[in-house]
Amino acid sequence: MSEDKKKKIIKTIKIDVDKCNGCRACEVICSSFHASPKYSSNNPARSRIRVIRDPYRDLYVPVYAGEYTVAECAGRDKYTIDGKEYDECLFCRASCPSRDAFKEPDSGLPLKCDMCEGEDEPLCVKWCMVDALTVEEREEDVDEEEVSPEELEIGLESLADKYGIEKLRDIVARMSEKD
Ligand code: SF4
Ligand code: SF4
Repeated sequence: MSEDKKKKIIKTIKIDVDKCNGCRACEVICSSFHASPKYSSNNPARSRIRVIRDPYRDLYVPVYAGEYTVAECAGRDKYTIDGKEYDECLFCRASCPSRDAFKEPDSGLPLKCDMCEGEDEPLCVKWCMVDALTVEEREEDVDEEEVSPEELEIGLESLADKYGIEKLRDIVARMSEKD
């Protein structure tokens, strides 16, 4: 068996909750960048980053859209950090059946952060004036075979499970008409 290892640069966005002031510029630029045509509109409900805001408690939590999950979890814990109470769901990145977060408002399809594919820098990071969002890079070893994950297939499969293949086909057809 081949022991070949390749290096892969993994980029992640680090969130500093204490610096976030809830301005929502990140939501505006993300939804605008992903509008079709690009920059034609902005609607935070279409953003891949959402800022959970509770100004009375000075609580702002930016959360990135992660993977779609077919089943809701059982986690309903509360956390107290620096005297502020957080619901466990606040930190969750999943688009899940029990809440509306990270779902495209018209189709209900799950949204996922794509790190602003094609841009030099994630736009939410660029637009965050207080550096609550910063890019971090790390290098990881990957096996040769792991270089082409079948993420797309897995994503489509779970969507087909949820919406049915007919509806998925309709949605894809409508999306290609818009282009
Ligand atoms: S742009 Fe920065 S400060 Fe404004 S809401 Fe987003 S993360 Fe918070
Ligand atoms: S990195 Fe890009 S796609 Fe991801 S949340 Fe930020 S603006 Fe949206």
